[in-house]
Amino acid sequence: MTRSTDGQAPSWKALTDVIAMAKMRKKANLPQKTCAACGRPFAWRKKWSRVWQDVRYCSERCKNRRAT
Ligand SMILES: [Zn+2]
Repeated sequence: MTRSTDGQAPSWKALTDVIAMAKMRKKANLPQKTCAACGRPFAWRKKWSRVWQDVRYCSERCKNRRAT
């Protein structure tokens, strides 16, 4: 089973995917914080647009279970 078109630009799709990912990375330049409960970094979210400066936890779960 052979096709005459096989072997022509075989990785072109993969290449464009890599470029698209790189562009998305650059675009995702959102501010980040570290959760005060679990210590993990989390990124800015639209729902925090007004209270971002007061946000200390990555989720409601962490907010309700802060360590003593
Ligand atoms: Zn957390």
